[in-house]
Amino acid sequence: MIDLSSIKAIDAHNHGLPLSILRRNDPAGMIDRCTITGMCIPSSNLAGAVAADFVSGLSQTTPFALALIRELAGFLGCDPSLEAVQRSRNERLVADGVGYLRSLMKSAGIAGLIVDDGYPQPRVDPAILREEYAVPIGSVVRIEPLILEALETATSWRSLNETFAERLSAAIDAGAIAIKSIIAYRSGLDIAWPSGEDLEAHFSRWRDAGLPRGRGSSKIMRDALAYSAADVAKRHDVPFHIHCGGGDSDIFLEQARPSCLFPFLKDRFEQDIVLIHAGWPWTDEAAFIASILPRVYIETSLATPWASLALEQKLNTLLGVAPPRKVLYGSDASSEPEILWFSARVMRRTLARVLENGIGSGWLVEKEARMIAEDVLAGNVRRLHRLDF
Ligand SMILES: [Zn+2]
Repeated sequence: MIDLSSIKAIDAHNHGLPLSILRRNDPAGMIDRCTITGMCIPSSNLAGAVAADFVSGLSQTTPFALALIRELAGFLGCDPSLEAVQRSRNERLVADGVGYLRSLMKSAGIAGLIVDDGYPQPRVDPAILREEYAVPIGSVVRIEPLILEALETATSWRSLNETFAERLSAAIDAGAIAIKSIIAYRSGLDIAWPSGEDLEAHFSRWRDAGLPRGRGSSKIMRDALAYSAADVAKRHDVPFHIHCGGGDSDIFLEQARPSCLFPFLKDRFEQDIVLIHAGWPWTDEAAFIASILPRVYIETSLATPWASLALEQKLNTLLGVAPPRKVLYGSDASSEPEILWFSARVMRRTLARVLENGIGSGWLVEKEARMIAEDVLAGNVRRLHRLDF
């Protein structure tokens, strides 16, 4: 089997998890919070809908949770049981949190983190993450919190748009390496320039209604702001990351498919856009779009790490259909740092299997397979964002 263990990974999409937040979490729910169901319950305010041990019941037969417990037990040197792993991990976090986080990065061969600063809120200072994790941090500025900030003083569409664009530009000047939007959670991915619409009238209507999420004036305002954000990204020559595909239950699922975003991608064909989450679960659509639009890139979460049994199939599609030079590895860790660790391990071994199959079936020779692995694990994200790490 081709060995990728020496190739360092740069995680192209994840969220700041400083010790100050990690230590507030209930140690007994750590593994549950790592599963996709457990992670989505708090982020979409569904905690009241299920009993506290409901997710634990699911985790008992979820391949992702079972493998995570086993492998963490190996790393921590404890019994491979849920209780022992959570206890041992909490002891490490309390006794020497910084040492523990750094050991996770080192063990997983992680050479850098590209952090979406929109979650958690308030924004986590990248300098804190740099210190605690001891790896380089690339910060991505999310537009939705900036829209809210600009709305505090905006008296018109014009002033909203101006303040928003100024703040976005300032964030890039201050070091952000990309711009990110989660418009799929606000009004849907079917972004269109609102030609012929009276933007000032829509601004008043949206503000007077209390700035709701959804379609109508909300969508018209957010679509126009997405175009402004794309303009700023183009002017500063940084990639635009767009959440594409499913997510937690707050998503506008009918308008979350990669194909919904296609008209916007075609409109902005001359700038770099990264489909964060690979259009999950519609990864075949995302891969197809990246195969025909030259500057559309794909980031591999949520397939990595949560697809577990289905991950090989997803990677086969992404790397067989999209040009591998445009596929960026990411974990979308947003609850616990063990996801960063586990996801990098899962990606390396699944990628090895997929590439090994590619060699076996005559599509690749070993040298080419290694080149693809190096690109996907770090080279592509590094080149696209001109990282110095
Ligand atoms: Zn994310």
